[in-house]
Amino acid sequence: MNLAVYAAQDERSRGRQFSEPAPHLRGEFQRDRDRIIHSNAFRRLVYKTQVFVNHEGDLYRTRITHSMEVAQIGRTIARALALHETLTEAICLAHDLGHTPFGHAGQDALNECMREYGGFEHNLQSLRVVDLLEERYADFPGLNLTFETREGILKHCSAQNARNLGELGLRFIERRQPGLEAQLANLADAIAYNNHDVDDGLRAGLLDIDALREVSLFGREYADVVARYPSLTGRRLVHETIRRMIDRVVRDVVAASAARLADAGPPSIEAVRAETAPLIVMSDAVREEHLELKRFLNTHLYRHYRVLRMTNKARKVLRELFEVFMQDIDLLPDEHREAAANAERQHEKSGRARVVADYVAGMTDRYAIVEHRRLFSPGERS
Ligand code: MG
Repeated sequence: MNLAVYAAQDERSRGRQFSEPAPHLRGEFQRDRDRIIHSNAFRRLVYKTQVFVNHEGDLYRTRITHSMEVAQIGRTIARALALHETLTEAICLAHDLGHTPFGHAGQDALNECMREYGGFEHNLQSLRVVDLLEERYADFPGLNLTFETREGILKHCSAQNARNLGELGLRFIERRQPGLEAQLANLADAIAYNNHDVDDGLRAGLLDIDALREVSLFGREYADVVARYPSLTGRRLVHETIRRMIDRVVRDVVAASAARLADAGPPSIEAVRAETAPLIVMSDAVREEHLELKRFLNTHLYRHYRVLRMTNKARKVLRELFEVFMQDIDLLPDEHREAAANAERQHEKSGRARVVADYVAGMTDRYAIVEHRRLFSPGERS
């Protein structure tokens, strides 16, 4: 398939931090995608929460199924806009690799614990995983991914952290844009979670379908399905509604972005990067509806008392794990203890804190629960 002039191109990649011979049978971005799939961090996403803690039920999204849904939405849009589909897929699959156990509650708790030591940002942690923490290859630390994939993984970054990231951090300081595949992955993420959280929230019995019908995106498609299939009920009615919601937003992104691209006419990915605003966008009307749904989920799902009870427990578990290891690194498993001692020699207490944060962030939900029990319940095996 012919790529647009403003798409990323394998042959014109800005390259990897450690130079390597070109791949034989694959493109550069395909190699990135494959390395991500083979990583330990990717496998751990199976047991990390999206909204519901992993052991609450087998049908809820976890970070791995979320990442796959993001990737397939991303690929559809990439193909429709003649952007690099495999690069988009690689970014989407990697975007949550740095996520802590217990979803956003875990990330907030760890950020709080790390306040005096430079903070904790999950986007930055995803980059840290692929640049440093994965240990697989003889010639380099991490996965040694291309600049384009790394640029896509780093969605947000504080100005302070950006200053330590060299070329990759520049755009946050100069307020410029990443390539289109990165912009696209970002939107695909928002589309995926908005829609699958409706599905999971209904399945869990936390969302009420009559209240949802008041939300424009859901209400319009729901009414349409009911008109077409008057006897349809239950799961099929919900799924028919959600698939139409995704389709509507995806088609809107393709149309609005195509118009934006035709207008700006960037001759290359460098011209895209020089822009001050994204070129992959939703139309104003659909963005408004998308935000309406997001606000609804905020109030009715993410702040539902059952979800808050779970996130409250999760915060406590992460905080206590962090504190106990900060007080005594001898409680860490050998390799992490050694890393903490080394980091402390170089960067004092913040070095130790960073290694503890890496260890805690890498845990799956169930591992964090088990580790917490091993450390705090006297009757438990250590
Ligand atoms: Mg995500």
